[in-house]
Amino acid sequence: MTSSKSSSILLSRRHRRHLLVGRRDSSKIFSESELARWWRTRETLRMDLAFFLFVLWTLLLSMMLYGFVVGMSCDSSAILYCGFMEISTSPKLSTTSNRSVISPSTSTLNSSTSSTTSPSRRSSERERIYNDESNSYDKYSSPVKTQGLNGLKNIGNTCFMNSVIQCLSNTKLLLEYLLQDHYVGDINTSTSGMKGALIKSFVEVIKKLWSQDASDRVVNTTSLKSQIQRFAPRFIGYAQQDAQEFLRYLLEGLHEDVNRVKEKPKPILTEIDEKLSDSEKSSESWNRYLRMDNSKIVDYFVGQLKSTLKCTHCGHCSVTFDPFWDLSLPIPQRAGQVRLAQCLDSFTREETLDGDEKPTCSKCKERRKCTKSFTIQKFPKILVIHLKRFSLAERFRGKLSVTVDFPLEGLDMSHYAADNVTPCRYNLYAISNHSGTTYSGHYTAYCRHPYNKAWHEYNDSRVSSISPKSIVSGEAYVLFYEQEGQKSHL
Ligand SMILES: [Zn+2]
Repeated sequence: MTSSKSSSILLSRRHRRHLLVGRRDSSKIFSESELARWWRTRETLRMDLAFFLFVLWTLLLSMMLYGFVVGMSCDSSAILYCGFMEISTSPKLSTTSNRSVISPSTSTLNSSTSSTTSPSRRSSERERIYNDESNSYDKYSSPVKTQGLNGLKNIGNTCFMNSVIQCLSNTKLLLEYLLQDHYVGDINTSTSGMKGALIKSFVEVIKKLWSQDASDRVVNTTSLKSQIQRFAPRFIGYAQQDAQEFLRYLLEGLHEDVNRVKEKPKPILTEIDEKLSDSEKSSESWNRYLRMDNSKIVDYFVGQLKSTLKCTHCGHCSVTFDPFWDLSLPIPQRAGQVRLAQCLDSFTREETLDGDEKPTCSKCKERRKCTKSFTIQKFPKILVIHLKRFSLAERFRGKLSVTVDFPLEGLDMSHYAADNVTPCRYNLYAISNHSGTTYSGHYTAYCRHPYNKAWHEYNDSRVSSISPKSIVSGEAYVLFYEQEGQKSHL
């Protein structure tokens, strides 16, 4: 055995080459200690390589995390952006079912500014979320369970529109009517002003939202918006609008396009006979409505409200029945938290009409102090509840950000029924949320997938999973409930 010193001298150029070639050859030449040192060096190198790979992996992980954080901050920039745009708009007004006469407010900012929130970064983030979700739904056999998760492009302050479209896209009855082309045979080309153009354009968007093509992951609504503008000129321009008002216009437009009434009959101007029973009055009133307006959209969304006027002098009750597309509920307090039942109670609570408001009693034939109350005569399949956060009276006091605690399942409406007989329960499936103030805000939607029942947040082009626990918030603005026991056609 030679010393390490002498062995190092033996390390000639030839040997060094051997060292590079392989240990089998060099083992014959080197001493054991020399070999041991060489092995140690090799081990160190291997550890260095492992360490390097670990650092690289950590770096990649932090980059991914950074990407996520950036994606999140894009959200808030979208909110700030919409808020900025909204400053130039008129305040939101709560309207009746009639078309509003408010002139459309226009914004000097055009659609091209909508791309300021770096769309490429947002769409790649969107893609990542989409892919993640697609993978997590692999357990579902039906492809329809992985669809409906496409986003909508913000083409210039159109988050109010996007929010409503996503809520309707997750309305199972409506979705199936449109996706399966059942609407085609119902298109009204005679009495409808749009001759079917609005519903066709809407279906195009809905089909893209439910498409599996990668090119449809962020759907453009430009063509639908131009049809909506033709139907309701108040939506011309890029000003922020009220989601609930937009919903009413859109549903009305869709209804007209598939109205079964192809020839408008002469309106019946006579009052409904006072001597009829309440249920007879109710069906007469409903039939009169259907004479003019009868469509699948009416079948799904329209209910009937009963209003009772009671004379405090003679006790005579006068009832009237009116169709409703949604219930606009007052929020009975300005701060804290209320239950939805309290809002419903406040809506149906008896109010006194006195002074200038005194109606004429049909029995006394005189203006009398009366009480007025609402009950629901006919429940719609889809119950839309609008929380009056921007009511006219509140206009100058700002938006009501009270958290309304609403049930996700089993909303029992039988308490508000006119006859109190039929059990009537509803389950929540969509919410249009408004964050911010009256003059500055952003709309998003929370929707429950009609087939896999998972909840998602739709924030313009971004779609992400959300826990049902985070759904109730002070931002909920329009609630969409479906009656229990609805059957799917898919
Ligand atoms: Zn009276």
